[in-house]
Amino acid sequence: MKFDDPALDSCAPDIRERWLVEAVRSQIAFMRANVPFWHERLSQADVDEQRIESLADLAHVPILTKEEFRAISPTLLVPNESLLDLKICRWTSGTTGRPTVNFWSETDWAALVASTARILQRQAPMQRPVAFNAFSQGHVTGPLFNAALRRLGAVVYDRSHHPEEHFSTLEQTELFDFDTLVLPAQTARGKGVGLVNLLDEDPNFLARHGVRWWLGSSGTFDPQIVDRARGQGVQVISNLYGSSEFAPFGLSCAENPGDYHVAQGHVLAEVVDQAGNPVENGKFGRIVMTHLRGMNEQGHACIHGGTQILRLAAGDGATFLSGSCACGLTTPRLRGVRRFGATD
Ligand SMILES: [Zn+2]
Repeated sequence: MKFDDPALDSCAPDIRERWLVEAVRSQIAFMRANVPFWHERLSQADVDEQRIESLADLAHVPILTKEEFRAISPTLLVPNESLLDLKICRWTSGTTGRPTVNFWSETDWAALVASTARILQRQAPMQRPVAFNAFSQGHVTGPLFNAALRRLGAVVYDRSHHPEEHFSTLEQTELFDFDTLVLPAQTARGKGVGLVNLLDEDPNFLARHGVRWWLGSSGTFDPQIVDRARGQGVQVISNLYGSSEFAPFGLSCAENPGDYHVAQGHVLAEVVDQAGNPVENGKFGRIVMTHLRGMNEQGHACIHGGTQILRLAAGDGATFLSGSCACGLTTPRLRGVRRFGATD
């Protein structure tokens, strides 16, 4: 299957699972052969990737905690042969401890961009969006939104690097015409700016610019801001979910906006119990993530070459939904995503 193929999100789940299992086997073999850290860890856990026949068999692979991840020198997770191919290097915010970093090779980045474009394409209300992208270029979301939207044929204007008090987002948007706005609903701890802040300063901002598509990430959009946006002519609201190590990998369902459909292939997303076993449909568990595939020039899956992460518990939990969805997608959903505390 190609990364651009929308069928990846709407095919029968067992077809997707077979594709993912094959990818897991080959990526684990690559990690074992090229990264001494993983060679040792996989041997200690007695993992034999050739015996993995379903995604549930991954339960034998130990979960990597954030503390373990933080303790490893970043380059020790990158295969030597990939060092010259690294393209994107971005750090996490570090709200729970020292920031961590992730490297994407050229082909890893291509897979991430194609996957993001693939899921956004279903929701785009126009053929050729003209977007103002207010996400930081210093965070992985800024360049990702730029690249994914351009892959859809959009024109993208990126926000400058200046802090709000020097050159505000509102001031910058006045310099451009656009129909698509890429901006969080609100920002954590007063950093940057969110749509809530813009509408406080300029209550008619969206209608005045003729914004028809609002894209964001970094938190649930509450019904109040959604109503305000729709009231000003916004037709489609697309909210992405992800983590800094993996970038966004889920997109809000068109029918149930609180649920995120998981896009897989470039990553693998699991929801597991305390023992690391996948939870059943409707059960809550912690989200664990794996870097899975890159994309070659022909659009086919290849090795993920950058930072090698297998089953990282990045800090969130969610209720896992695997049943069919009214929107027509067959991909699993995450509902009620929240930080996963020590008491869970
Ligand atoms: Zn859905």
